[in-house]
Amino acid sequence: MIQMNLPNPVMHALQRLNEAGFEAYVVGGCVRDSLLGKEPEDWDITTNALPTQTKAVFADQRTIETGISHGTVTVLYDGMPLEITTYRIDGEYTDGRRPDSITFSTSLREDLRRRDFTINALAYHPKEGVIDHFSGLADLDAGHICCVGDPHLRFTEDALRIARALRFSAALGFKIEKVTATAIHKLAPLLRKVSVERISTELKKLLCGKDARRVLLEFSDVLTVMLPELQPMMGLQQENPYHHLSVYEHTVETVAAVPATPLLRLTMLFHDVGKPNCYTRDLQGFDHFRGHPPISAAIAEQTLERLHFDRQTIHHVKKLILHHDDTLSITDKALKQLLNRMGPELAPLLVEVQKADVWGQHPDKRDERLIFLDSLKARLSELIEQNACYSVKGLAITGEDLLKIGYSAGPKVGNALQSLLDAVIDGSCPNEPNSLLKLAKEML
Ligand code: ATP
Ligand code: MG
Repeated sequence: MIQMNLPNPVMHALQRLNEAGFEAYVVGGCVRDSLLGKEPEDWDITTNALPTQTKAVFADQRTIETGISHGTVTVLYDGMPLEITTYRIDGEYTDGRRPDSITFSTSLREDLRRRDFTINALAYHPKEGVIDHFSGLADLDAGHICCVGDPHLRFTEDALRIARALRFSAALGFKIEKVTATAIHKLAPLLRKVSVERISTELKKLLCGKDARRVLLEFSDVLTVMLPELQPMMGLQQENPYHHLSVYEHTVETVAAVPATPLLRLTMLFHDVGKPNCYTRDLQGFDHFRGHPPISAAIAEQTLERLHFDRQTIHHVKKLILHHDDTLSITDKALKQLLNRMGPELAPLLVEVQKADVWGQHPDKRDERLIFLDSLKARLSELIEQNACYSVKGLAITGEDLLKIGYSAGPKVGNALQSLLDAVIDGSCPNEPNSLLKLAKEML
């Protein structure tokens, strides 16, 4: 019998429900993740106790009525939030997203049947081991995403499951089983019924998955439903010495090459999205996409706004895309200017973006560029670590000091500080009060 490690509060919660005469199992994502040797993010419990009965069992703990009409009570058990949900059967689905009604059930099997994928339809009890009515263990072993029941029906009921399938496939590195995959390709347009918030959550997880590359290539048609903005990139060939892939294929390679954070992966997904708008072919037959970064940045902004991404992510993605094609030099002066332009948080990320962009280019051009960008990155970290001065704020004197030596208040102060900064970045003046004041006096 498989034994899983349950945190103490989870063990005790199961025990308490059992002692009160109810069935109770851990279920869903936490069972899947534990069996995969991963720390579950949250622990869900399924039980035949009704919500009011669950509340009575945990009367001495704080409970939150998270979704009491759906049967869910959150119990803060010794401070650990546990979602305890009554066995459920979902009623009819008419909006393609949520059941019109739900009924409570007395059967664990019924509850497992309503769950999306076999690997998510596993339950566990310390005395009974894993309860596996739908071959979830075999699929977990084989690395398969497979619907519980008829995929066509399950995706028509709730189209969010289409996005979840892609996400699990990318995150776990699991293949989507054939019948399930066929239904996904066929029913992808149903994703339009899913809220933008749910789409963006799944998209972030998909992009950060270890197998994002395969999923983005295999399900590009599904991605286009979520992000119609990407459509023009698909199949757009680029005939020039730097590229051997279509714009979309290149994009996917760069997504896979960049570190797996939502910010960087979204940046790569959109960095060339403006290329189709900027396409020209020269007399030698080479393709160019001059001026595409600002167009890509604008399309990324519109798209991420449509998907209700947060302000900061949108701002950072835009800025990284806008500068993704900048020519970077490794002199201290150029690196300080880069820090001034991008800030110490985004400057190192821009180097990651450029490295990923190189990974998606022609292999002949790759190694030399990557070696260069790595040494640039190393020098950039040194400058950041040394607190090198790259902004007016970092100067060893302030506007106040300039007023004291005879500057009159107004724009002259700002201009003088800027000139002093230029001199510091140039290396022609040390960032030290006496030297700066001396130079400021000369400029007065
Ligand atoms: P993660 O927590 O990593 O997002 P998860 O599988 O735990 O993954 P949750 O949204 O926490 O996902 O849902 C918990 C469980 O509820 C799932 O494992 C699955 O059994 C079931 N479930 C969630 N969403 C759906 C859905 N749209 N259709 C059917 N069952 C679902
Ligand atoms: Mg979960």
